Amino acid sequence: MPLSREDLADLIDGRLPWPQVKAIVSTPKDDDRFQRLLEVLQTRVAWAERILMPLGDHLYVVEKGTERIVKCDCGQEFGDWRCNWKLHSLVLVRDGEASLQEIWPGRSAPDPRLCEVREYICPGCATLLKVETVPFGYPVVFDALPDLDVFYREWLHAPLSSESACEDRSLTVIGQWAADRGAPPGPN
Ligand SMILES: [Zn+2]
Repeated sequence: MPLSREDLADLIDGRLPWPQVKAIVSTPKDDDRFQRLLEVLQTRVAWAERILMPLGDHLYVVEKGTERIVKCDCGQEFGDWRCNWKLHSLVLVRDGEASLQEIWPGRSAPDPRLCEVREYICPGCATLLKVETVPFGYPVVFDALPDLDVFYREWLHAPLSSESACEDRSLTVIGQWAADRGAPPGPN
């Protein structure tokens, strides 16, 4: 039996009792489950751009004119979906004992000699969007770069109106930072 819109909404919000969740995840999915999920998510945001794919609890890839960008449910935009959205977020780095102890008091804290904890925060609504724990200097992790065209064309059989090459373009953001700061001085 197809999942009702109400049950789908409760599933998203974590309000369904576990036996019901188990029954849902154990049975074959309705063919249009993803589109119905998007419909529910679309009713929950105040902006008009079409949601193409959720990227977590607050972020979505949306269609904005001919562009595909990452957008927070508060309306904050993070640019082209092929550029790591984290590069447009606020970042709190916990790399010392005092800041780590704020989250993990006592001996459970990670060892600040081994790693750092980065908290990525939305500049629009201050929601904590993602936390990553990595060795010092590790590049910002690009969690997901979905190939939207392949997904819509091959899996949903509903191709998007225009196709875009799916490739990591995060370095263009960093290149722009460098350009904005001025070219470094060359050798004499
Ligand atoms: Zn936000």
